[in-house]
Amino acid sequence: MDPQLAIQELEKMGRDGLSASELIDLKNTGGLTYNDFLVLPGYINFPADGVSLETKITRNISLKTPLMSSPMDTVTESEMAITMALLGGIGILHNNCTPDEQAAMVRKVKKFENGFITDPVVLSAQHKIRDVLEIKHRLGFAGIPITDNGKVGGKLIGIVANRDIGFREDVDTELSEVMTTDVVTARLGVTLAEANQILRDSKKGKLPIIDAEGNLVSLVARSDLLKNRDYPWASKHPQTKQLLVGAAIGTRPADRQRLAKLVEAGLDVVIIDSSQGNSSFQIEMIKHIKETYAGRVDVLAGNVVTRDQAANLIAAGADGLRIGMGSGSICITQEVMAVGRPQGTGVYQVSKFARKFGVPTVADGGISNVGHIAKALALGASCVMMGSLLAGTSEAPGEYFFLDGKRLKKYRGMGSLDAMEKNDSDNSGSQARYFSESDKVKVAQGVTGAVVDKGSIKQFIPYLITGLQHSLQDMGVPRLSELWPMVDDGQVRFEHRSAAAQIEGGVHNLFSYEKRLYK
Ligand code: GDP
Ligand code: GDP
Ligand code: GDP
Ligand code: 5GP
Repeated sequence: MDPQLAIQELEKMGRDGLSASELIDLKNTGGLTYNDFLVLPGYINFPADGVSLETKITRNISLKTPLMSSPMDTVTESEMAITMALLGGIGILHNNCTPDEQAAMVRKVKKFENGFITDPVVLSAQHKIRDVLEIKHRLGFAGIPITDNGKVGGKLIGIVANRDIGFREDVDTELSEVMTTDVVTARLGVTLAEANQILRDSKKGKLPIIDAEGNLVSLVARSDLLKNRDYPWASKHPQTKQLLVGAAIGTRPADRQRLAKLVEAGLDVVIIDSSQGNSSFQIEMIKHIKETYAGRVDVLAGNVVTRDQAANLIAAGADGLRIGMGSGSICITQEVMAVGRPQGTGVYQVSKFARKFGVPTVADGGISNVGHIAKALALGASCVMMGSLLAGTSEAPGEYFFLDGKRLKKYRGMGSLDAMEKNDSDNSGSQARYFSESDKVKVAQGVTGAVVDKGSIKQFIPYLITGLQHSLQDMGVPRLSELWPMVDDGQVRFEHRSAAAQIEGGVHNLFSYEKRLYK
């Protein structure tokens, strides 16, 4: 057969399936959710493990994976944020706590990994072993440079480490008696790569950096080399090598002071957490942030589900938009307020608009499997935000408990009465997102529930990443950065999924089965 014939016939008949704009065509379908459609397979000429998932979450922040954890008090505190960032995503710290508590969480994430530690904890020779133990207990490390005045900038006279204090019970002994004085150091001006090499060669745990007069300037830690080796996809600031972190705030006047503390602690991206973001309060807050912290923090505004809402927030200066209203698993907004939008349509309409201005979008809520992530990205989102999918992991806050023989963790909406009752001093926490202080009756917009133990995200996130790489491979898309261009010009094709098709697409006709997702 003439090899050209099949191609010619295809050209004559036209391509199968629908383009994204035909899929979403509101006149014919109404709003779509992720389950209402499928992506048709494309052409594979590349391996799945080479599929790059690099993406932007705001105008200025890129990540190696499009994964974000929700700012909810049963999902993201510092442990989740640290682990998400190590694995290539980012965590957004919740604000259902005091500003100081939230700032402490930011600081903990920023301190976890470093290049040059420019503000290392330092002691003097007159401090006691007790002081080092206290630092170890509070901050987790015991490698402490000793200077003549006990401060950074003082003359370096020694170093103490775990090994110097580990077996000592005489906790009132001065550090002058236990410190090591012939310290391997490097001179100010050394590059990080050179400093790392000196550390590897010296085999010591820390490398103090000193100036020409012998004064301590900064510190480099060997454990950071190991972290960098073990987590090559980690989301880090290009200069400081510190992990990236986000945090949520509201739009009250008190949130400006909250934000000041978060920025001071090193915040990279602030999320203005509102279920309906198209408000004068949010626009004022975006302008305030842009004026006060230009070039220091990026603003993810929202939530929005329509182009009208998006236009206002982009005009105000948003660096990214968060999309979703009522699609969250714990959310009853659509039921109670009669306002919202099916998530698939919201993601498509807002993302298509925002992309014209180079503003990335985050598809927030309603993600319950890898396929949903792939669909959100295919509809134009740059990133997805997950609540329930990450709740119940060991990195999520809260203790496990047993019910009916199942190991569970609590997961609750930030608009649930349960979450609201945790009222913080300045009333700028989650209460402010869903209630006005003048409200006499509190109307809940979320529920409280529980999810099953999912183990550590150190296994779960790699599963999501690998699943996503295979999904893009099936679509014939070699890089996430090419997905939207290929969707937009009609190369990636879609199809609606009838109710029967959804049943066909799930497991069916079995007496029983076990659903294990990864190994
Ligand atoms: P140590 O041997 O007990 O000092 O602890 P590690 O070297 O295992 O861990 C130190 C970790 O804490 C590294 O990832 C550092 O980047 C981080 N860190 C952040 N701030 C400081 C600091 O002021 N001093 C030290 N020693 N480490 C810090
Ligand atoms: P540890 O493994 O957490 O105890 O940390 P280190 O490897 O930094 O320290 C091990 C021992 O080496 C301790 O007794 C330190 O005081 C000592 N030490 C740390 N840095 C130096 C150095 O530059 N020169 C020498 N001679 N000893 C050091
Ligand atoms: P690349 O790692 O070579 O792609 O380039 P980078 O700019 O990321 O890193 C430059 C140098 O910094 C290399 O020597 C890295 O090993 C080192 N580096 C990267 N991340 C860290 C870190 O978290 N801590 C330390 N101490 N070094 C790092
Ligand atoms: P999930 O991933 O569980 O489907 O959805 C998580 C998202 O739901 C969060 O990122 C947040 O946007 C939204 N959300 C969290 N709590 C509430 C709530 O109480 N009410 C509503 N309407 N949305 C919530």
